[in-house]
Amino acid sequence: MTRTASILAVGSELLGTTRVDTNSLFLTGELEAIGIRVVRKACVVDGWDDLLAELSFALTRAPLLCVTGGLGPTEDDRTKEAVAALLGRKLIRDEEILQRLRERFQRRGREMPEVNAKQADVIEGAVVLPNRRGTAPGYLVEAEGKTIVLLPGPPAEMKGVFAEGVLPHLTRGGAPPGLHRRVLKVVGLGESMVEELVRPVYEAHRGHDVTILAVAPGEVQLHFAARGTPGEAGGELDVLEADFRSAVGPALFGRDDETLEGVVGTLLAGSGLTLALAESCTGGMVASRITDVAGSSAYFVGGAVTYANVVKSEILGVSPATLEAHGAVSEEVAREMAEGVRLRFGTTVGVGVTGIAGPGGGTEDKPVGTVHVALAAADGSRRHERLVLPGDRAMVRRWTTSAALAMIRGWLLERGELD
Ligand code: AMP
Ligand code: MG
Repeated sequence: MTRTASILAVGSELLGTTRVDTNSLFLTGELEAIGIRVVRKACVVDGWDDLLAELSFALTRAPLLCVTGGLGPTEDDRTKEAVAALLGRKLIRDEEILQRLRERFQRRGREMPEVNAKQADVIEGAVVLPNRRGTAPGYLVEAEGKTIVLLPGPPAEMKGVFAEGVLPHLTRGGAPPGLHRRVLKVVGLGESMVEELVRPVYEAHRGHDVTILAVAPGEVQLHFAARGTPGEAGGELDVLEADFRSAVGPALFGRDDETLEGVVGTLLAGSGLTLALAESCTGGMVASRITDVAGSSAYFVGGAVTYANVVKSEILGVSPATLEAHGAVSEEVAREMAEGVRLRFGTTVGVGVTGIAGPGGGTEDKPVGTVHVALAAADGSRRHERLVLPGDRAMVRRWTTSAALAMIRGWLLERGELD
């Protein structure tokens, strides 16, 4: 029997212009991995009639229905009420959940608003799925041969409740075969270059769909999948991954949830080195990515956002003569920024970034998108790269952050090999 599911994302905001339904993407991946195919998904406003109509239609399409959103305390959160009405079941207040809710508020020094009490109402016969990250628990209801799963809307809560409450239920008796996806991430190479490098690999592994995507500025991803139990599919994916890694080389920096800043962080933490950043055109965005990583305080000492020439000179010690002779966007200035911030902050590594993000400020020999990234280390190592990046201001800035992180990673890897 093919197992199928439908997904319903509840929330008027998802039909507006500012919010997208990302929950269904996560759920689709999780369900596919255990052999459940998603045959239908929809977004619906918080209106009572719309909700009832979508719920009852979705239930005719597949034996499993995952609903997210609308479990909050406010008037417009009515998912649970609608499911109860549809199934002709009562809502029963659960004193234990109510007590836990009150305690949750007390721990934060607040009194529970009375509206939250309805989050302790349970659909008759439903299994309550605890939510460690928020106030609204999830629910699993079985009725007339169908399974309905209700999950909170906030993505982190939805993922937690699904992993801890729903997945164990769906995989009772062992994980069934399914579709397992893997993503490999490449920095510093264009889409067509990656395509050229990996073509022999996917030609040797026919039967696997391989997609090459330019996702973020400066980053290309390889997406592929295999069918089977986690063990079987994992083995196949490992073989493909190893071949892709040797075809692409060191530009391939990570897989799945790994990020460039995370990979750099792990390398820095492992090496015991410290980092300082001097940023002009990125205005602190490199520092922001570095500090996105938990534990970054172990290696990141600080950064300076230095826009005006006088600040580059006074804070970083960039020589006014260098600025005069080569301009603020130049190899020489990037190099002096890197060494200057390293000395100023007393770190083993310093990185300097300067460029023209646009849309104005470009010239013939320094067009918009011209960026210089430099690295200076206490052991005398020096790196520099000049890039002429495509795209608008946001793209140039984001791409520059990846180039800076890639430079740190490249240097650390080479250094590791020398040790
Ligand atoms: P709710 O559980 O309906 O109160 O949703 C709370 C918040 O979760 C919403 O304001 C959204 O920010 C987020 N959210 C709800 N549904 C989704 C969804 N399908 N995808 C991504 N975020 C969502
Ligand atoms: Mg809502």
